[in-house]
Amino acid sequence: MIRIQFRHWPILWKILSISVISVTAFIVVSLLYFLPMIEGKMREGKKQGIRSVVEVAFTLLEYYERQVEEGRLSVELARREAARRIGELRYDRDQYFWINDLDMTMIMHPIRTEFNGQNMTDFKDSTGHLLFRDFVAVSKQKGAGFVSYRWPKPGGQDPVPKISYVKLFQPWGWILGSGIYLDDIDRDLSRLRHDLLVGTVFFACGTLALAMLIGSGITRPLRRVMHGLDLVAAGRSAELEPQVLVDSHDEVGRLGERFNRLMDSVKHLARFKKVIEEEETLPQIYQRLGRLVTDHFDFDSAVLFEVDKDADRMNLVYPPPEEEMASGCEAVVLEQARFCKVRRTGHVISNLDYPEICHCQSAGKGKGHYCIPMLVSGGVTGVVNVGFALPDNRIQRLKLETRLAHLEQYVRESLSVIESKKLLEALRQSALLDPLTGLHNRRYLQEYTEGIVAGLRRRGRLAGLLMCDIDYFKQVNDVHGHHMGDLVLKETAAVIRQCVRQADIVVRFGGEEFLVILLDVEAGQTEAIGEKIRSRVEASSFILDREVLSKTISVGASEFPADAQTLWHCIKFADVALYRAKEQGRNRVVRFEQEMWQGDEF
Ligand code: GH3
Ligand code: MG
Ligand code: MG
Repeated sequence: MIRIQFRHWPILWKILSISVISVTAFIVVSLLYFLPMIEGKMREGKKQGIRSVVEVAFTLLEYYERQVEEGRLSVELARREAARRIGELRYDRDQYFWINDLDMTMIMHPIRTEFNGQNMTDFKDSTGHLLFRDFVAVSKQKGAGFVSYRWPKPGGQDPVPKISYVKLFQPWGWILGSGIYLDDIDRDLSRLRHDLLVGTVFFACGTLALAMLIGSGITRPLRRVMHGLDLVAAGRSAELEPQVLVDSHDEVGRLGERFNRLMDSVKHLARFKKVIEEEETLPQIYQRLGRLVTDHFDFDSAVLFEVDKDADRMNLVYPPPEEEMASGCEAVVLEQARFCKVRRTGHVISNLDYPEICHCQSAGKGKGHYCIPMLVSGGVTGVVNVGFALPDNRIQRLKLETRLAHLEQYVRESLSVIESKKLLEALRQSALLDPLTGLHNRRYLQEYTEGIVAGLRRRGRLAGLLMCDIDYFKQVNDVHGHHMGDLVLKETAAVIRQCVRQADIVVRFGGEEFLVILLDVEAGQTEAIGEKIRSRVEASSFILDREVLSKTISVGASEFPADAQTLWHCIKFADVALYRAKEQGRNRVVRFEQEMWQGDEF
């Protein structure tokens, strides 16, 4: 249970818990093991220290005994000298030695001189302990040993716990002793405990600070990474700022670096998509995509084709005609789209794996091509052809493949934008066309008047205007039905279209009225074309369900800007002339003349 919960802890907590555990373990081990061990060793050390100093002082007794044996000193003198010299000995500033004999008479006590010569058999310490009996008992039993009791410190009155080492000097029956006060050991121990505590506090603070530093060094970049991923997931890639600060070369630093690189590319892709979404026309989008391939991805060349399904053609949409095309695609692909393998299969076609995979590619030696299909609803609507130098080694190849995969992503992202632009364009075009005849409608004329007039003025040319109206058309509907009426309209439209040039504009102006704008006509030529239309219509037969019908058409002609300052005035004048043609008996062409128009208002 605890293990599962620990798994869910934040990383910083986990790292901190490691240092808390190690500090706690250090304290527990110190308190339960090291401190008692050190205390024991210190006590033992002190005891051994006393034993040593007693042993040293003991050598004095042995020295004077030798003096007696060698006859240099009398026993009396030797004992007195030994007692005096030992009485003068001090160590640890004020620690001393005393001597009593086996009868428990005090031979020499350098501090409590009042005890000298006294029998101490019944002397008790503050707890009632008969300590001299213990000195004698230990000395007799083992020759030397430790005895604990209470005794005032030098210069003090209150007895404190003391431990003494006593040793029997057999030849004289003397017991030499010296001791340490336990509170001195306790003082040293409490100093040790204090030092240990301070050390532990520093150690704990140090490890916690280090853990915090390491932990936040890991979690801060991770939090940034998570924030960035949240933005990407929420589709707010363009807001990816600021990125992870990379200040180390460890795994976290490398994660930050990769994340930044990823975010850069996500951001660039999001911005690219936004930029092309805001472009107005398809050619501008193709231009952006083409430039991206050469400038951002640094490929040698980029060529974009758009598939024209109806005509089985591939239209070059990038680079623009004024720039030189650097593709190795042969011209036959443009004329017959089915020859393009990408168009046919919908797969990427590249000579990276199979040197001569495409029969229509002549990229040249050492040159690579990578053709990406623009797939929309399973169909290929275009092809992006990328050219580059073939890689020499594995690393170059891996880098190239990464760039190409990346580019494919951009192409995929562009597709939706390209498609929606195409759809919009088609919608706009269809809104400007008349569904029955396929001719432009009046809306088209309204939208493009300015452009038509500007072109004429720039070229300094005339436009001929022909307003054509089928004669007695109503009868067709009345006698033969609307089906026949529609057929006559469609076929008349086709006849008119055939009578004029591709560049001329034919508009279905009203029910059975057609306006023809003849661009760049020579003065006086308009009437002749009007006549051509009239005679062709007259000569046509309209056949529906074995019914055969012939119709005539009346035409009014005017010229812009010869007849009026605006195109719309000229259109009006062509209509006026048409009215005159109807008046004059129909099936004729009438050229507008100024006297036909009396009014000022249009
Ligand atoms: P006029 O010689 O004076 O031009 O006589 P008209 O009968 O041709 O002229 P009118 O304006 O009286 O009749 C035009 C007719 O065209 C009226 C309308 O029903 C018909 N019409 C208009 N648009 C369509 C269409 O899209 N389909 C069909 N079938 N008829 C249409
Ligand atoms: Mg009519
Ligand atoms: Mg009419």
